[in-house]
Amino acid sequence: MSILIDNIGELVTNEPDQGEGLLGIRRDVAVVIEGDRIAWIGPSAQKPPADSRIDAHQRAVLPGFVDSHAHLVFAGDRAAEFGARMAGEPYTGGGIRTTMAATRAASDDELLGNASRLVDEARRQGTTTIEIKSGYGLNVADEARSLRVAGQLTTETTFLGAHVVPAGSEPDAYVDLVRGEMLDACAPYAKWIDVFCERGAFDGDQTRAILEAGAKKGLFLRVHANQLTEGPGVRLAVELDAASADHCTHLSDADIAALSGSNTVATLLPGAEFSTRSPYPDARRMIDAGVTVALATDCNPGSSYTSSMPFCIALAVRDMRMTPAEAVHAATAGGARALRRDDIGRLRPGARADLTVLDAPSHLHLAYRPGVPLISTVLHNGVPQ
Ligand SMILES: [Zn+2]
Repeated sequence: MSILIDNIGELVTNEPDQGEGLLGIRRDVAVVIEGDRIAWIGPSAQKPPADSRIDAHQRAVLPGFVDSHAHLVFAGDRAAEFGARMAGEPYTGGGIRTTMAATRAASDDELLGNASRLVDEARRQGTTTIEIKSGYGLNVADEARSLRVAGQLTTETTFLGAHVVPAGSEPDAYVDLVRGEMLDACAPYAKWIDVFCERGAFDGDQTRAILEAGAKKGLFLRVHANQLTEGPGVRLAVELDAASADHCTHLSDADIAALSGSNTVATLLPGAEFSTRSPYPDARRMIDAGVTVALATDCNPGSSYTSSMPFCIALAVRDMRMTPAEAVHAATAGGARALRRDDIGRLRPGARADLTVLDAPSHLHLAYRPGVPLISTVLHNGVPQ
C-alpha cells in the first residue's frame, strides 16, 4: 500500500543538507509512503505512481510533532487549583498529591480512557509520538499499573515513582522503595526512568541513587531539572548521560556550559510557565551557547493541562525569543533527540511516515496564527488518522 502526497508547497524535512536553513525546507515536492516508512521525496514533476493520493494544495507538510514529556496517566482534574493560582496563590507542586489520591481510586479502564482521550487530542493537533510518565500512583502497585496503561498507548514509557514523596512517607525510606521494590515492579513496563529533582521533591543525592538504580535495570535516563530553582538536576543529567534535562527554567552559567557539548537535550516546557504564571526559560541563551533544545507540552492536570504542541511553539516564539524555525525544529527533531530516536522528527527516505499537512502555506503560521486549528491531516506510521 503506497500513498503519494503531492502538490506540497513547503516541506519541512529537518535535513539541512536537503533544503533551506535549519528546517531543510524544500518546495514544490512530492512524498511517497510505502507501508509505515517514507520511500521517496522529490520534485512534483517526477512523482512516481502510488496506490492512493493526497493533494496538499500547496500547503505545508511537516514531520509529526514529538512530545517528549507528558504525564497522561491520572484521574480527576485541578481546575479549581488553577483558578486559585490565577487569583494569586503560588505554585508549589503540592497538588501532585491531590491527583495521586484520585489516580489510586480510579479503575484501570478509567485511567486508560482518560489517557487515550488525551493521546487522541494530541494527535488531532499533529503529535505522532508522545512520551507518557507514571508518577501519580506513588506506590508499587499503582506505579506499575500506570505504566501498563501507558504501554498500551506508546512505546516511550517513563517510570516516575520519584515524582514527589507521598504524604506520610519518610523521604529516605521512600527513595529506597523507589529504587528497590517499586523499580523491580515497574522496569518491565518502562523504557525510561525520571526523577523530579527539586527542592521539596528529591535532592541531588537521592536523584543520583534512583537514576543509577534505574540504569542498572536497563532503563534510560531523563530528569525534571531546575524548574523552580537552580539546583543539581541539570549537571547530574549531563554527568549521567541522561537523554534530556526537562524544564531548565533556572540555569547557572555552569549548567549552560554542561549542557552545551553534551548529549543531553534541554527540553523546555513553556506550558508550565504559562499555567503557573512563571518566568519562561531563557531559550535564546541556551541556543546561542550551542545547547540542543526540545519543546514538549508537560501535559498534566496540575501545572500544564495542554496537549497542544502548536500552542507550545507559539509560546516559544512569542515569549522565549525562539525563531519560528527553531521552535518547529525543537518540537520535531528536538523531541526526537530527547527520546534518542532517529526514525522520527525528520522526513527522509527510510524515516517513519509520521507527518502532518497544515491548513496553511508555511510552518510560520503555527506561531503567526496562535490558537487556530491549523492541522489538516495527520499520518502516523503511514496511516491517515
Ligand atoms: Zn513533568
